[in-house]
Amino acid sequence: MQLLEGDKLKIIGGRGWNDLNKIIGLTFPVPGDNPNSVVIETGAPYHLSDTWEVYTAFREPPHNHIRSWLGVPLIVQNKIIGLLAIDSAEPDDFSDADINIASEFANQVASALENARLFSHAQTQAITDVLTGIYNRRGLYQLGEFEFERARRIQRPFCALMFDIDHFKRVNDTHGHAVGDQVLRLLAERCHRNSRAIDLIGRYGGEEFIVLLPETNLESAHMIAKRLRKTIIKTPFKTDAGELPITVSIGVAEADLSDTFSTLIEKADKSLYQAKHSGRDCIVVYQAAQELDQT
Ligand code: GH3
Ligand code: MG
Ligand code: MG
Repeated sequence: MQLLEGDKLKIIGGRGWNDLNKIIGLTFPVPGDNPNSVVIETGAPYHLSDTWEVYTAFREPPHNHIRSWLGVPLIVQNKIIGLLAIDSAEPDDFSDADINIASEFANQVASALENARLFSHAQTQAITDVLTGIYNRRGLYQLGEFEFERARRIQRPFCALMFDIDHFKRVNDTHGHAVGDQVLRLLAERCHRNSRAIDLIGRYGGEEFIVLLPETNLESAHMIAKRLRKTIIKTPFKTDAGELPITVSIGVAEADLSDTFSTLIEKADKSLYQAKHSGRDCIVVYQAAQELDQT
């Protein structure tokens, strides 16, 4: 089976090869001097009863064992997405009935592929925040609970940061909602770029974000919070209304044995609340003395 990727057909699966691993990933140019291209270009089955007669490439290794060749297109919503290629070492080995069966099978494969694609798209949509492209609250909870349970099982630390933009209402009031949206997008992008691959970052609500930190103790989480705060305050955000300086208040918490994922988030939220009440633009760490750190 071969799927179109740009101007190439890529082999993504097959049967009957001695070493399938050597075959998967191979590409054919489209258009190109190969029968695969004909299937893609015409969108119809293409049958060679003797490959040697039509394409010289089939006379040479590694293709010279192929004498009969049949390609049927994979079509999804009138779009050709790839093809199934079937071959035989015997010339003239495929009948009209074989071609019909192969086409029927290709239709089923195409619709299964499309369903899988739609399903995975819907899954991703459901856990993604439309404005910023990072996880939404649902995504945070789904992945967060999974990672939290995993950390618990293997007895590893787990921390959460919650942060909220300071006086964000003023940004909207002064520059309009569209510029506010722009700030949210840029902020999410900047945080995402500065987080480790295993850190999960999501938009909890309006202008409130959460970073989940598996494998991280409170001390490291505090350092990460400081770094995050610096990243945000260091450079103003370039918006259509000019460069806007943004500050955030951050709450940090580490899970202890009595915590569930939800109570950990509550702790981070409480610390954030405290940070707001301590004058904003600062970090509050839960428990570890509940002290204020303005560095
Ligand atoms: P504080 O420092 O206490 O957090 O003050 P604040 O103004 O940031 O907080 P408040 O909760 O009073 O206001 C939050 C604002 O965030 C109000 C709301 O209009 C804005 N907001 C929430 N979601 C969005 C959004 O998706 N886009 C834009 N542009 N603004 C949003
Ligand atoms: Mg705010
Ligand atoms: Mg808020």
